[in-house]
Amino acid sequence: MKRILNLLILAPVLAIAQPGEPKTPIETTELSQGIYRVFVNNAVAVVVSVGDNGVLLVDAGYERTANDLLNHIKTLSMDPIKYIINTHIHGDHTGGNLVLGLNAGAIIAHRNVKEYLSKEHGEGEKKTAAFPEYARPSITFTDRSSVDFNGETLELIHLPGGHTNSDIVVYFPKSGVLAVGDLLFADYFPFIDVDNGGNPFKYLENVQWITENFPDDATIVGGHGPVYNMEQYKQYYITLNETIKVLKGHKKKGMTLEQMKKQRVLKKWESWGSWFISEDRWIETLFPFL
Ligand SMILES: [Zn+2]
Repeated sequence: MKRILNLLILAPVLAIAQPGEPKTPIETTELSQGIYRVFVNNAVAVVVSVGDNGVLLVDAGYERTANDLLNHIKTLSMDPIKYIINTHIHGDHTGGNLVLGLNAGAIIAHRNVKEYLSKEHGEGEKKTAAFPEYARPSITFTDRSSVDFNGETLELIHLPGGHTNSDIVVYFPKSGVLAVGDLLFADYFPFIDVDNGGNPFKYLENVQWITENFPDDATIVGGHGPVYNMEQYKQYYITLNETIKVLKGHKKKGMTLEQMKKQRVLKKWESWGSWFISEDRWIETLFPFL
């Protein structure tokens, strides 16, 4: 069995190389025996567990990349997808439910994910219709849950009010893999979805809680950016906290939001603003909470 698995690990590389197919860039890293981090479209991470019980996913990527993701997962295992766990409500984590959920055993998430996807959702012109029942979570929880799968008992823990009102982390205790969803935008300022219950201070509190409640040798997979070890995740906390301290100091001295942006008071962390949360947007996010 192990030998077969080892052969399968090579398969994704070959799959990418096939010419003539419309392909989403998909990069796979084996984090532990049978646990993969699949990075979809250089943007969103999906964790895949493959083994005797079949296939389990943490997050499902976008709807538009889900067919390519599904084909890719089949190169890791031809077994059916038994569970999809959504870490939170956002479309880059749940959109794939619309394709992958068709043949999945069950979708698991915080109760607020089900509520959100059961109605029209999204913002402005980007409104998404309510998901059909097969693409919504059928197993939900509020605080904690667990799933026995592929030889380990996965721990699912809700951390309230940070990125959204529905964030969970998923820990694979034997493998030491910790999927934290968007409680990690590795190397970038995070998006805080204030309209859906997010709060930057709760976000930081939740990041700190994670650093204090999981082992130092855990492998941390965020929704976006590279995989971190615990030391890097602690540094993520320190960096974000520093940006808050800087802004607080300026606000205390009477500086306005516009002045902070114009004077680029977070210039030191320039590279952290190189993705969709720019320096300005991070300042705008924090300012009302300072
Ligand atoms: Zn998100």
